[in-house]
Amino acid sequence: MAHVNFAKQGKVAVITIDNPPVNALSHAVREGLQKAIEQAVSDDAVGSVALLCAGRTFSAGADITEFGKPILLPSLREVIDAFENCPKPVVAALHGTALGGGFELALGCHYRIALSSAKVGLPEVKLGLIPGAGGTQRLPRLAGAEAALRVIVEGAPVSVEKAKAMGVVDEIVQGDLREAAIAFANRLAEDSRPPRPTSALAVPAAKSEIFAEFERGIARKQRGFLAPFRAIEAVRAAGEKPFAEGMKLERDLFVALMDSPQSRAQRHVFFAEREVAKIPGLPPDTPVREIKTAGVIGAGTMGGGIAMCFANAGIPVTVVETAQDALDRGLATIRKNYANSVARGSLKQEEMDRRLALFKPSLDFGDLAHADVIIEAVFEEMGIKKEVFSKLDSIAKPGAILASNTSYLDIDEIAAATQRPRDVMGMHFFSPANVMKLVENVRGKESHPEILATAQKLGKQIGKVAVLVGVSDGFVGNRMLAKRMREAFFLLEEGALPWQIDKVLYDFGFPMGHFAMADLAGLDVGWRNRKAKLDRLSARERDCDILDRICEMGRYGQKTGAGFYRYDEKRNPSPDPLIEKLIIEHSARRGIKRRDVSDQEILERCNYVMVNEGAKILEEGVAARPHDVDIVWIYGYGFPVYRGGPMFWADEVGLKSIHEAVLRYRDTVGAEYWQPAPLLERLAKDGRRFYTRA
Ligand code: NAD
Repeated sequence: MAHVNFAKQGKVAVITIDNPPVNALSHAVREGLQKAIEQAVSDDAVGSVALLCAGRTFSAGADITEFGKPILLPSLREVIDAFENCPKPVVAALHGTALGGGFELALGCHYRIALSSAKVGLPEVKLGLIPGAGGTQRLPRLAGAEAALRVIVEGAPVSVEKAKAMGVVDEIVQGDLREAAIAFANRLAEDSRPPRPTSALAVPAAKSEIFAEFERGIARKQRGFLAPFRAIEAVRAAGEKPFAEGMKLERDLFVALMDSPQSRAQRHVFFAEREVAKIPGLPPDTPVREIKTAGVIGAGTMGGGIAMCFANAGIPVTVVETAQDALDRGLATIRKNYANSVARGSLKQEEMDRRLALFKPSLDFGDLAHADVIIEAVFEEMGIKKEVFSKLDSIAKPGAILASNTSYLDIDEIAAATQRPRDVMGMHFFSPANVMKLVENVRGKESHPEILATAQKLGKQIGKVAVLVGVSDGFVGNRMLAKRMREAFFLLEEGALPWQIDKVLYDFGFPMGHFAMADLAGLDVGWRNRKAKLDRLSARERDCDILDRICEMGRYGQKTGAGFYRYDEKRNPSPDPLIEKLIIEHSARRGIKRRDVSDQEILERCNYVMVNEGAKILEEGVAARPHDVDIVWIYGYGFPVYRGGPMFWADEVGLKSIHEAVLRYRDTVGAEYWQPAPLLERLAKDGRRFYTRA
């Protein structure tokens, strides 16, 4: 029996799944389990059964490489039924993480014991699914509807202690799990304890309002996602319908989700996130440098947040500024951020103190001499960056990684200010740096593979998703964003208003629209950027000076109480008639006759322009794969996960229709702005997708 072992210890049949690394419930495993339980049933010498997993964990769930393919029998549901219907008592013994189908299998056993370090969970919602093998029907029978909702709808793993309190785990054990499982099973047999099929239990009574309450509770955070709401429906059915009917509903909901574009997209993101960790041309055994201490230059918005990332990961960090007041301000903000977390209850005071003790504020560049990695986050000006890097060159120890957090500037030019361009790269964090999960690691033309491998690993160590990209104006994320921004401003002068554009993007699934995001980031940032680039802009872009006019009024966004929107003291935005007037006058002054701009046009121009730029980015090799572009947009800019990222989404829309739209906008907006990327053109013509272009 491949992957499943059957052994007998006295009267106990010991069934062990052995399918490394995570004991996924592949077809071979399911077949093995079916045979093993049949053997236990038919063997008169067997009095009880213990189900275990070999290796580092209990089964972590279905074999997701089988997703989307026809199911080979026996299905997991059938296997679980066979265990549940076993006339001899069955105990599952859990260690590591019993997740998804693995946990569902355990729920179908009659008893569960677990090591105190184990965790259980049903994370299917994260893949746009609900548990499909009885989890939504059996868990409420053991734990009650409310606890089950928390586990299933949130999808987060639960400690064994909590699981025991919920009534899901019967006993927490220490020491040898196999011995404990056999002893437990022996006791079951000796005490003639009958099987205890979970499906035969009644769901404990719950208040009927909890389902609606739960829906309200997740309405904001899970906006747009289908699966969490379907999960609530399934759990509700567990209390309202007989087991078999509840199972049927679960099945129907599961199948519909499995076939949905949302789950396809979410499963894609799951794989893409793992894919971006592998770098083409950078072998996994590339040596990495040891990072024990870090340095950050500049304690402004970004520097402070980046320094926090290091301290949060337990890495001591020296923060260097030019003036004492800037340093004090930076450190005060850091302290306030931590204090807010303590007040919210998400951080313990001792932990805050421990982290703060890792900061070494300084006005002396010389204090960076021992840092293994130094990240520069000073003003976005090439002259200053070069000066800083040349100074760093004379101070940093040999082998230290010298990284810039620049948003747009040329890493190669910065590297050339040093005698060691091989140690220079970009590490582009997103604001707020201590919160946002993305870091774009930028490979300069001379960056040594070792520093790239180290930075990728470091990204993970500080809790980020690191994507390796190439040098380009704005790298991947900001380069695409700049195109969307251009279209958004053109749409304003053609007839749209900021709130209309924002609503379209919000409804598409972005956490906020373009202009609300600009207000949050601070309009002065974009304004400075625009002024620096003015001579490289087209005549129309230069004349489209709405941003200049808003900034000239001192409206820098949320921080000044007004930008594109007006903000109340709680920072709630409202559309501002003054801005509407400003935009309408702008159109008149420019001689543009305002028209009704449709939501569809907004959606296409804002998104297709990014897809087209993404195609150029791929063709130039600035991103190695469409996965990289998608992950940048999901973790850096809040592109809706359930749409899979701009490139995946484009594939789903169809490249042919996107290409046609690009040609249409070329004719209406202008060839200067809308030229189909050659890659998009080729793929569209051949009926192919970004994801199958190889
Ligand atoms: P900021 O103005 O908030 O902070 C810059 C800090 O650098 C200031 O505190 C300043 O005193 C200090 N500084 C200036 N010159 C210095 C020098 N020679 N030595 C030491 N310190 C010096 O700016 P920011 O928003 O944190 O941006 C910093 C960098 O990060 C820029 O390159 C920017 O493009 C990039 N970035 C910004 C964002 C964002 O959203 N703000 C996002 C990603 C990247």
